[in-house]
Amino acid sequence: MAYKTTYPYTNEVLKTYEDSSDLQVEETLKAGHELYKKWRREDLLDERRDQLHLVADILRRDADKFAEIMTKDMGKLFAESKGEVELSADIADYYADKAEEFLQPVDLETDAGDAYYVKQATGIIMAVEPWNFPFYQVMRIFAPNFMVGNPVILKHASICPGSAQAFQDLVHEAGIEAGAFTNLFINYDQVSDIIADPRVQGVCLTGSERGGASIAEEAGKNLKKSTLELGGNDAFIVLDDIDFDQLQGTLGFARLFNAGQVCTSSKRFIVTEKNYDRFVDMLTESFKNSPWGDPMDPETVVAPLSSPGAKEDVLKQIDTALANGATLVYGNEPIDHEGNFVMPTILTDITKNNPIYDTEIFGPVALVYKVKDEAEAIEVANDSKYGLGNTVFGADIEHAKAVGEQIETGMTFINSGWTSLPELPFGGVKNSGYGRELSELGFDAFVNEHLIFTP
Ligand code: NAP
Repeated sequence: MAYKTTYPYTNEVLKTYEDSSDLQVEETLKAGHELYKKWRREDLLDERRDQLHLVADILRRDADKFAEIMTKDMGKLFAESKGEVELSADIADYYADKAEEFLQPVDLETDAGDAYYVKQATGIIMAVEPWNFPFYQVMRIFAPNFMVGNPVILKHASICPGSAQAFQDLVHEAGIEAGAFTNLFINYDQVSDIIADPRVQGVCLTGSERGGASIAEEAGKNLKKSTLELGGNDAFIVLDDIDFDQLQGTLGFARLFNAGQVCTSSKRFIVTEKNYDRFVDMLTESFKNSPWGDPMDPETVVAPLSSPGAKEDVLKQIDTALANGATLVYGNEPIDHEGNFVMPTILTDITKNNPIYDTEIFGPVALVYKVKDEAEAIEVANDSKYGLGNTVFGADIEHAKAVGEQIETGMTFINSGWTSLPELPFGGVKNSGYGRELSELGFDAFVNEHLIFTP
């Protein structure tokens, strides 16, 4: 039984879950494939729209219940879990409302005759998802594919089975047919078998580079389409003309939300020399005023990390950084508690030969770089194997946008921390993966753009 809920605040095992058998896998594939064929034959878009709105209604109705399940699984603040439930409901509503528009045939210009394409379902999609946003990540895949007509099989992270089960129950409560969405407590080999099955037409993974590479390899071997949302080492660039008031309230959120375990949270703060000292003081002040504690307590700002292993990894990364010449500005003090806490930590003087220079730290650790000017800021921001998101802060917004366009990432946020909304595409380049989720781009990820041509 690999799947279990261990509450990161106490490290008490709250519940274990039975592994899914190969027979359950086969039944899931069969039900999904039958449903796919039915959805191809019959126009049931209106029914699916109403069901997806119902999913959103149930999420909002039982927000406290779902939020607590997520917090118990992976430790995030209860308030953040509630925000995630709300965002998941918004994603469900968005795709329920927009699917009809997104599915309109697209006319094509050609002198050779009449041409258009229709967007059609392709088959079952295998979704492999991480623990850091247990509902939101799943909804990003389920909602668009449900409206397209692609059934979804979920393999969730082994540390958040409570959320996986709750999502499955939610879908059933909304009256959605069996096969449309199935959570399975399966191992990596079973995931590979599912990807290889001809009834499955796509696979998406959100997670680490290692997990992504392995899923992409399985997909490639079996000629299946894949999308990957992987790690990030997002830059937060502070330009010369910054108005420091703009930063108020942003820094803690940018780095400490979800205890720093966000793919697109700001991890490298790149500040021009003019503003460097003041910026470091401000960041330090913000971290000092961010108490760690019980994730269910509304006063807590820094939650425990998701597992003892996650905590150990971050502490090791801090040690490595310091052993290679980094300066500790704040934090890195042991916390005497059985939960997986890491104190918010600020490191500076990270040289290019420090192994931490191009490593994602998945925890509450900020690296601050001093650069002489904007050109160097852009150079440092781009000197990364990752390309997920970045933030640019500056008083001249048009100029900040122009700087943002020069950063090799999939997303840039101007004068704000990272954000995610149903209508905005989410994804990256380089080692941060390929493909986009959310928005119309996410809707199109696993459709067949079927050309109909009459000369
Ligand atoms: P992970 O180890 O890759 O796990 C993610 C999911 O993949 C889990 O369900 C895991 O299952 C599964 N998995 C891993 N290797 C697999 C394989 N060979 N075959 C089948 N399934 C496999 O990632 P993580 O460390 O938990 O998550 C953190 C990472 O995700 C960070 O790098 C973060 O930046 C990234 N992330 C990216 C985004 C984005 O949108 N770009 C969003 C959130 C997180 P088990 O749990 O059973 O191992």
